[in-house]
Amino acid sequence: MIEKSINKQAAVPESSIYLCAPINALVEGIYEENITFAEIKKHGDFGLGTFNDLDGEMVMLDGNVYQITSDGKVVAIGDDVLTPFACVTFYKPLSHDEITSEMNYDDFIAFINSLLPSPNIFYAIRIDGWFSHVKARSVPKQENYRPLAEATKEQSIFRFSDVEGTVAGFFTPEFVPSVSVPGFHLHFLSSDRNHGGHVLECRPRNVRIGVQFISKLELSLPMSLDYLTEDFKRDVKQDLDKAEK
Ligand SMILES: [Zn+2]
Repeated sequence: MIEKSINKQAAVPESSIYLCAPINALVEGIYEENITFAEIKKHGDFGLGTFNDLDGEMVMLDGNVYQITSDGKVVAIGDDVLTPFACVTFYKPLSHDEITSEMNYDDFIAFINSLLPSPNIFYAIRIDGWFSHVKARSVPKQENYRPLAEATKEQSIFRFSDVEGTVAGFFTPEFVPSVSVPGFHLHFLSSDRNHGGHVLECRPRNVRIGVQFISKLELSLPMSLDYLTEDFKRDVKQDLDKAEK
């Protein structure tokens, strides 16, 4: 009995990342896929994404979905709301680390990188605590078919100082840029649920970092006419860098 439970604890729990569509569909301006959050929640309780018509940034924490609109408002979202792109997992961190003094963004990213044993698997990352500074953005509602790199030119940028909250997101291997944003993709939500967005920079001061190793990818391919008839020959890596960094 005892041996069994030790073995169980020693093993890395198997977990998968779920995407309801590949990111290249979003990059090409396919902003309507009509996938409900009820469906997304079957695949995870933690993650990020956007909403139909690219209407703001999405962050999911503990099974709750929040929308950060381009005017900076945070709205709690119901299960019937629709999304063209969401990336989620059931959050089960394997390790926890702490940062107890202020760190600039480059050092912070280097520190998180040092927690990841290999760049060739996915990770879910959740950072809770105090930040001296968070620079985040959100995007205004768009017409379908306007490429993401164009749409994000109109992004609103928010700067929060001395803020408590959660940075949540994923690390994606470099070799799947058509599926998900390579490297770190992080969204922010303040503890008071009043602020948030897609993280452009942050300076953590006193935070706890949870990391989950993910060795399985589950990708849904939309069956919409827009998706089925799109030509995905274009290399979207440059657009993705422009839109997401
Ligand atoms: Zn984002």
